[in-house]
Amino acid sequence: MNSKKVNNRIIAHLDLDAFFAAVEERDHPWLKGKPLVVGADPNGGRGRGVVATASYAARAYGIRSAMPISKAWQLSEAARRAGKEPATFLLGNHRRYSEVSGVVMILIGNRVSNQLGNLVSKLATEQAGIDEMYCDLSFTGSFENAEALIREIKKEIRGKERLTISAGIGPNKLIAKIASERQKPDGLTLVRPENVQDFLDPLPARVIPGIGPKTDAELEKMYIRTILDLRALSREELIEQFGKWGSDLYRKARGEDDSIVEESDEIKSVGEQETFEIDTLELAFVCERLNALCSDVFRRFRRDGFKTFRTVVVTVRFADFQTQSRAHTLKAPAATGSVLRFEALKSLLPFFDKRENPESKKIRLIGVRVERLSKRMNDRSKF
Ligand SMILES: [Mg+2]
Repeated sequence: MNSKKVNNRIIAHLDLDAFFAAVEERDHPWLKGKPLVVGADPNGGRGRGVVATASYAARAYGIRSAMPISKAWQLSEAARRAGKEPATFLLGNHRRYSEVSGVVMILIGNRVSNQLGNLVSKLATEQAGIDEMYCDLSFTGSFENAEALIREIKKEIRGKERLTISAGIGPNKLIAKIASERQKPDGLTLVRPENVQDFLDPLPARVIPGIGPKTDAELEKMYIRTILDLRALSREELIEQFGKWGSDLYRKARGEDDSIVEESDEIKSVGEQETFEIDTLELAFVCERLNALCSDVFRRFRRDGFKTFRTVVVTVRFADFQTQSRAHTLKAPAATGSVLRFEALKSLLPFFDKRENPESKKIRLIGVRVERLSKRMNDRSKF
């Protein structure tokens, strides 16, 4: 391992603020500053999907992304009863969001490569989601230079795209990612290597990427709230509690992360999910919806310029909200919608019998995702 290189890095993480809602406010000025919720149809409080993005005005009502849309509706109604403006619910225009995302990501990439100099062809950026990106800015030589570049990028995005983006700068991806969340919206948080532990210690443990509600609840039971609390546990104790993930947690609590920033379309994924109106275990119906999802996923995959996928993931959420995924990685990259439908169906069927559903629980939601995508056609691809 080239530890010297890993120890002297300057990494930035950029994350657009309340992205879907921000695009709606920008494109529809009459929505500006209003409580906006982009996500599933709330259906008068009986809707069954989730919130994709809430604007900051909606967050003031307690509405958050990934929250059930019915809960968001209740919070909006409570605000209305308190004399405040109820939230505007929008299904959202995902085609528009991926267009805008593309423009912003290219702008960042161009700005970084201009700074790098035209002689260097290898871009030091990695898109990590529709609204976030990592940049390896080690080439700037100092945290001051990196900060100046990020300020210019933020200014350019505000000027040209009328969107705000929050940034974190740190010695690795983990710290950059945690830092970008600290001063949203329109924030910039810089954490130098010598300040990493002081920066992390007072934060709630759940800011560590990978700690979801489940791990968070387990930590709570162990009276662990902050990263400082988490650091009191030995590696062995964490492994005993969380298995292999415990060892990752041990390193993350100390701000250690040597993963590299790499532009690789293999890490991207395209997925869709659907919450049913009624929980069901009707095979014909679920298969038909799975096929429709596969068509949507395949259309987006093609539209985003991808040629092949390697992994197909099917997710099922049962009526009791227990959620399970099955992933299948193909021997060779695949390029057709029929391979996707076939693989997705194979992964779905065990949820209808003892293999994945011994209690015959009804299904609330299904999702399909393709991963390990490539924009190049490979000789070994299946057609
Ligand atoms: Mg964001």
